[in-house]
Amino acid sequence: MIKRVGVIGAGQMGNGIAHVFAISGFDVRLSDISEERVENGISTIRKNMERQVVRNKLSEGEKDKALNHIKGQVGYEKFSDCDFVIEAATEDETLKHAIFKDLVPHLPPATMIASNTSSISITRLAASTDRPDRFMGVHFMNPVPLMQLVELIRGIATSEATFTEIKDLMSKLGKQIAISEDFPGFIVNRILMPMINEAVWTLHESVGTVEAIDKGMRLGTNHPMGPLELADLIGLDTCASIMNVLYQGLGGVKYKPCPLLIKYVEAGWLGRKTDRGFYDYSGDMPLPTR
Ligand code: NAD
Repeated sequence: MIKRVGVIGAGQMGNGIAHVFAISGFDVRLSDISEERVENGISTIRKNMERQVVRNKLSEGEKDKALNHIKGQVGYEKFSDCDFVIEAATEDETLKHAIFKDLVPHLPPATMIASNTSSISITRLAASTDRPDRFMGVHFMNPVPLMQLVELIRGIATSEATFTEIKDLMSKLGKQIAISEDFPGFIVNRILMPMINEAVWTLHESVGTVEAIDKGMRLGTNHPMGPLELADLIGLDTCASIMNVLYQGLGGVKYKPCPLLIKYVEAGWLGRKTDRGFYDYSGDMPLPTR
């Protein structure tokens, strides 16, 4: 039975994943590359839980109890008592392989491992561990506490026992699941990311402004957010990485990342997390930048 969970990466997805596990009563170990990043992750969780208290989604007592379930650290020494570890570090395959190599010597043989990758082959990531049968893709959506869906992806070696146990774990978190085969981008990002990339092309070719593109898609197709707002929320570095995985893995020119998206990433304009992307977030209201 899974009681203690390790989360690697305390960025927007890692802290969201730690948040939902802690609220559901699991002990959580949250790790990142520096004390500062771990502390930032925990303080974001605190702020998000406080917001849930204000909205009557959580009591003050439940918030305190959940926060007590979370312990932060750099490195994986304390992961030796985890039953399940989920990796939610930057979307970079080389980095993820290196993380799994460092991680596995600290884990008991029975511990299951998942990656929250948005697009990278689960079979290849599993192969960099000593337990491909106990490895699978568990793709939470952003923001994790609010979004109902988790995509589950089996690698070629994932065992049925692992799949069943992780599927049950997701229902304990109150999540709905959609099952995807192990293809680049799985289901959600195979469909979503080319649309976001096309929105960036539409901006690049001056067909419309940031405001017109987002308003067009919000009011014209009933999307709750425009594609450029959504790109800023996801992170433009993550969007570019996913497009590159689709382009390399599926081949078609339709998956080529838009040069404007790449330029924004090169400028360090990564969206909400850096206060600037297609919108400027430094003031009270987001302002379109083009
Ligand atoms: P992020 O940039 O907010 O956070 C990434 C975190 O990983 C950072 O805190 C970074 O310090 C940490 N990190 C980098 N190298 C590390 C290492 N060696 N060990 C431990 N931590 C390390 O990114 P994010 O949006 O949280 O994305 C994380 C993962 O979740 C990616 O694989 C991404 O594709 C996936 N994902 C993202 C979204 C989204 O909307 N942003 C949605 C679903 C899945």
